[in-house]
Amino acid sequence: MHRFFTNEIQTGRAVVRGDDVKHIAKVLRLKRGDAVQLCDGCGNECDAAVSEILSDAVTFETAPWRRANTEPDVSVTLFQCLPKAGKMETIIQKCVELGACAFVPVQSERCVVVLKPPYEGRIERWQRVSEEAAKQSRRGVIPKVSLPVALDKLDLAPFDTALVAYENEHAVSLKAALREDCGRRVAIVIGPEGGFSEAEIAKLSAKGARTVTLGTRILRTETAGMAMLAQIMYEVEP
Ligand code: SAM
Repeated sequence: MHRFFTNEIQTGRAVVRGDDVKHIAKVLRLKRGDAVQLCDGCGNECDAAVSEILSDAVTFETAPWRRANTEPDVSVTLFQCLPKAGKMETIIQKCVELGACAFVPVQSERCVVVLKPPYEGRIERWQRVSEEAAKQSRRGVIPKVSLPVALDKLDLAPFDTALVAYENEHAVSLKAALREDCGRRVAIVIGPEGGFSEAEIAKLSAKGARTVTLGTRILRTETAGMAMLAQIMYEVEP
């Protein structure tokens, strides 16, 4: 069933505006009475039926709202060091499907790509990728993509658990780290194609992050976040 996000909600009705209007009317060709699912972007969803299609808005009659059961118990933020062109879209798309709750692009020492301001266009594009993936995977929230931040400036204080996937960590596995301590708010940090320098690992450790290995094989940067998320969900979901 088609799913749309809206924050224009009243008793028994809701309105969808923006790009979705054209999609509903011209691409999906939905008609009055057609069934969809609506989501408020805060983890709630409802069944709804089209009641009116105008050029700039579609109105729906809504059944009672309920909590979406697609949100994981842990809230995972992916701090992804900037990969080469085009890969960030794939990372965001797949990691939204796997349950990531937020993305922070990180500029680190060995990033090939150096993002220069203004960042807004790129962030908007990544945010759209997140929204499309959230609709497709029936998420209850649209994971936010933040402005890029330098590795030195990462704020890990709001997290209960912070884990850095480090290619030179050979002792502590992700599984062992999660079984020892996994809070509700988890930060995961993935390096760029060139990996992390020792100085960067020291800085992240000083902020309370723990280094973990994802196994003996070296994964591409775009694979590492997905693998880490899948393992976290496997470990924490009932
Ligand atoms: N250039 C590095 C090397 O040759 O050792 C590899 C970097 S890897 C392509 C990119 C990032 O993915 C790493 O910095 C790390 O965050 C993550 N990663 C990939 N494989 C990993 C593994 N087996 N254990 C932990 N982290 C890994």
